[in-house]
This record gives sequence, C-alpha cells and structure tokens, in this order.
Amino acid sequence: MAKKEQATEKKTASNKKETVVEAVNTPINPLDDAAASVDGQELSVEQKLSNLYSLQLMLSEIDKIKTLRGELPFEVQDLEDEVAGLNTRIQNFKLDAKDLETTIGQQRTKISEATALIDKYKAQLDNVRNNREFDSLSKEIEYQGLEMELAEKRIREFSHEAKVVADEIERSKTLYDERKADLKSKKEELNEIISETKIQEEQLREKAKQLETTIEPRLLTAFKRIRKSARNGLGVVYIQRDACGGCFNKIPPQRQLDIKLRKKTIVCEHCGRIIIDPALAGVE
Ligand SMILES: [Zn+2]
Repeated sequence: MAKKEQATEKKTASNKKETVVEAVNTPINPLDDAAASVDGQELSVEQKLSNLYSLQLMLSEIDKIKTLRGELPFEVQDLEDEVAGLNTRIQNFKLDAKDLETTIGQQRTKISEATALIDKYKAQLDNVRNNREFDSLSKEIEYQGLEMELAEKRIREFSHEAKVVADEIERSKTLYDERKADLKSKKEELNEIISETKIQEEQLREKAKQLETTIEPRLLTAFKRIRKSARNGLGVVYIQRDACGGCFNKIPPQRQLDIKLRKKTIVCEHCGRIIIDPALAGVE
C-alpha cells in the first residue's frame, strides 16, 4: 500500500512538473483575448477595445492640457529659486556692510583718541624741564600723528569697500525686483491656465479612473507601457489609409481584416501599438 501511494505521489509530482514547465514555456501575452470578467460581467474583445480607445481619448485630452501649461511650471520654479537666491545674497551683503560700518567706527575712535593725546602732549610741551622730556613728547606726538594717518587711510579703504557693497546691494535689489515681478506675472499666467483647465482635468481624471476599472489589469498595464514609450502618448490607434495610425507602417490586408473582425487584440508589428478598426473609433 505504501509503495502504491508513493508511486501515485511520484506520478502526481511529475505531472505537476510538466504543468509548471508548460506554464513557463507559454509566453505570457498581456493582450490575452480571453473575455475579461469585470464584476462578473463578461466583456467581449470588441468592448474591451472600445473602452481602451475611450481611455486613450481621455488621456490624450489630459496630455493636451499639460502641453498647454508647457514650460510654465518649470519657469515659475526657476524664478522662485532665483528670487530666494537673490534675497540671500542681499542679506549677506547687508551683513558685510554692517561689519564695515563697525570697523570704520573703530578707526574714527582711534583718530579721536590720537587727537586727544596730541592735544595733551602739546600742552605738556609748554612745561618741559629738559631736552629729554621735549624729545620724548615730540616723538609721542609724531607717533600719534602717524596713527591718525593710518586710521584715515583705513577709513578711506573701508569706505571704498562699503561703496562697492552698497552698489552690489542696489544691483541685487533691482534684479530682485525684476525677477519678483516676472515671477508674479508667470504665476498669474500659470494659475489662470490651471483654473481654466482644473475642473476639466479633474473630470477627465475621474472618468479615466472609472474606465480603468473596466479594463483588465494586464491589458491596462500593457497599454500604459506602450503609451509611455510612444512619443505621441498613443497606445491605441486605428487603421489610417491601410497603415498603423501610430507609426504609419503599412498593415497587410489579411491583418486589416483580422482587426476589423474585432475578435482579437492585434498590435502593430512595427511600433507595438494596439490597432483597432476605424469604425470602432467612430471614424469612417
Ligand atoms: Zn505602428
């Protein structure tokens, strides 16, 4: 009995193995034509293709809205960054200006201290008792005189620097005002476009979301992948003048007939887009 069981088990295992191998060897076709079951409702290939085409139209509308906004969102972002950068620059220059002001003040204090000392020493000169004292005071007066000259030189240098910084602040402020005005007008322009299209876009997105639930996930994923790699964002196209409506390569007559039968999901051999019958797209 044990032996028989074992044999059966073996057989089952080998059967299982075959099934697995078969599954691996069978290419997974995302555009599988088994009727989709959505909420227990069987959808025909024709219905699936029709839903997919409607979804394509909605997504193309959303793409158009995005194109309308164009570069504006990026321009606004760039201007915001530039305005913030200019503001930081102005604040830094203002700190530099304050430092220079403090330094100049210190040099002025040095001058008044030296002036006071010179006055004091000059007064003392009237009461000197010998040559040594006279020489010593004279040297002090000379030294304080040099200190004054040095401080005046420094004040001239720092004042020049302060002037440069003040000019930079002025220039940055002008630029800041210009960019800020640019930002304001670009933002208004963008907001206007957004408000004009916002409701439309939201409605389209809502409808697209609902429609997506009626399309089986594998087909939807495949469609989205095709759309992403297609430059014009088209994942489903119809036959136009015997050619694919996406890449315009000719479609053989037999293939065109198959497409018109609406029994299978057929993709373009050249670009991979799903091709449908023009009548299904509402085009004669
Ligand atoms: Zn094509």
